[in-house]
Amino acid sequence: MSRINGFIGRRHFLRLAGASGLAVAAGGGSLIAAKENVIADAESINLNPVNPQQALQLLLDGNQRFVNKKPIYPHQSQQWLQSIAKAQYPFAAILGCADSRVPAEIIFDQGLGDLFVVRVAGNVASDMAIASLEYATSVLDTRLIVVLGHEKCGAVAASVKNEALPGKMNHFVEKIKPALAKLDQTNNNFYHAAIIANIQYQAEKLQQNSKILKQLINKSQIKIVKAIYDIDTGKVATIS
Ligand SMILES: [Zn+2]
Repeated sequence: MSRINGFIGRRHFLRLAGASGLAVAAGGGSLIAAKENVIADAESINLNPVNPQQALQLLLDGNQRFVNKKPIYPHQSQQWLQSIAKAQYPFAAILGCADSRVPAEIIFDQGLGDLFVVRVAGNVASDMAIASLEYATSVLDTRLIVVLGHEKCGAVAASVKNEALPGKMNHFVEKIKPALAKLDQTNNNFYHAAIIANIQYQAEKLQQNSKILKQLINKSQIKIVKAIYDIDTGKVATIS
C-alpha cells in the first residue's frame, strides 16, 4: 500500500489534535494553519512505507549484520543525503539510553533518515521524550517505537543504589525508581532484572501518559516493542 507520508501525517495530526482537546475553537483556523506550516519535514511521498512488523524486522536484520560484523552502512551517501533533504520518513522510532555505547543507527546498521531517535539516560519516558515520539508517529507516520534498554546501564545502577546524586541527576533516578518497586531484592541477578523492569515500566509510561500514542496503539496503527541491548555482544533482543 502506498501512502503519502506528509498528507496522511498531517491529517492524522489534526485529527489527533482534535481528540486531545487542542482543536479549533473560535478563530482556531489560524492555529491549524500555524501547525501545518511548522511541519516542514513531512511533505512528499513516502516511497517505502512499512508496517510495524516489517519495521521491526528491518531493525533486527540490521542488528544481525552489526553483530556479524557485516554492516552495509545504508543510506549514508551524499546522494541519499540530498534526496531526503526535503522530507523524512523514519521507519522506526527508538527511545534509548544516552549511553555512548548504544548509538541506535550503528547497532541497527541504519542511515540518514531511517530512525527517529530519542536518547536520554535510562531510556526514561519523560514528557519531552513522549512529545518527540508523538511527533514521530502522528506527523511523520513512523509505525514502530522500540524502547531500548541495555545491560550495564549506569542510570539504572544509580537508581538501584538509591543514593542521592548532585545537581539534576536525581531527576532520572526518580523516574526509574518506581520501576524497581516490585522486584525481589534477593534476586541474584537483581541488576539485570532492574534493567528489564525499567524497559517495561518506561514502555508502559508511554501509553499511560500519552493519549495520542494510546489511540494509535488501539487502532493498531503503531506498535511499541521492548528490547534490550547487550553491551558485550552487540546483540539486541526483544523482551515481553
Ligand atoms: Zn544506560
